Amino acid sequence: MPETKLIDGKAHAAALRQRIADAVAELKKNHGVTPGLAVVLVGNDPASEVYVRNKGKQTVEVGMRSIEHKRPATTGEADLLALVRELNADPEVDGILTQFPMPEQISQHTVINTIDPAKDVDGLSPINAGRLWSGEQALVPCTPYGCVVLLKETLGKLAGAEALVIGRSNLVGKPIAGLLLNENCTVTMAHSRTKDLPDVARRADILIAATGRAEMVKGSWIKPGATVIDVGINRISLPDGKTRLIGDVAFREAQGVAGAITPVPGGVGPMTIACLLRNALVAACRRRNLPVPAI
Ligand code: NAP
Repeated sequence: MPETKLIDGKAHAAALRQRIADAVAELKKNHGVTPGLAVVLVGNDPASEVYVRNKGKQTVEVGMRSIEHKRPATTGEADLLALVRELNADPEVDGILTQFPMPEQISQHTVINTIDPAKDVDGLSPINAGRLWSGEQALVPCTPYGCVVLLKETLGKLAGAEALVIGRSNLVGKPIAGLLLNENCTVTMAHSRTKDLPDVARRADILIAATGRAEMVKGSWIKPGATVIDVGINRISLPDGKTRLIGDVAFREAQGVAGAITPVPGGVGPMTIACLLRNALVAACRRRNLPVPAI
């Protein structure tokens, strides 16, 4: 059975953070600029609190300023939008991240559309999505960007590869497809209405699964030697009452078939915050008309 290479997301993310830290140090030395990343958290969802804490820690570790705004779960939409507008106007803030999900009285759509697209480090605004698909300078959603970094660092050039993206959400599937098209892949997008998905999958040199359906992609769907990026995070219950995270790909079945695969956890996941920091650095440079470091 040929060996399947494990794509170590933790190691790739650590290397990316190091490159970001070096670029931030250069930016400070040469231009006196310290990028600032503002994170807005409404309410006290425990998972969001952990995530925001990790973001703050890693922001400081790469030499940027972390600005945290916490608001109670009862915050009204108007008050939150007023805060976002304040951050838009603040010259010390280069990136704004609003942590979702928000309490139900706040519209995610309205919040995203209020963030200045130049500071939209989550890359979720329709303006940045349109720029991505137009091949223009965009801030790109973090997890999709992380997937493409993993692919490029694993495979080198991606041009000409048959890529299949399973999942078409605005957060994950669509931006991944746009990025792969920009890398000159031949891109197919699959979703819940796709016919004969196993046959479509077997054509793919690059298979990206982003469905949130535990182990949906079977080993027999994978073209021998293909590179598999598993974006899915699914928490399953075990007979002993504990829980475990698994991906959208049947990981064991993929062994010996795929050329390379990301594990869950430890594959795509660690790339997300690193790519957020990269976006904050890019935003800080572009807002000041400084060259964006090649990281
Ligand atoms: P989502 O908004 O629920 O979208 C899921 C997509 O999968 C939809 O486009 C859906 O198709 C498609 N789909 C569902 N069942 C399918 C099936 N049986 N066959 C083919 N396609 C199917 O989810 P998301 O936000 O994109 O997230 C996807 C997964 O990635 C989740 O597990 C999420 O937790 C994970 N995720 C991980 C990270 C990270 O690693 N940092 C970040 C974000 C998300 P339709 O459009 O036809 O309904």
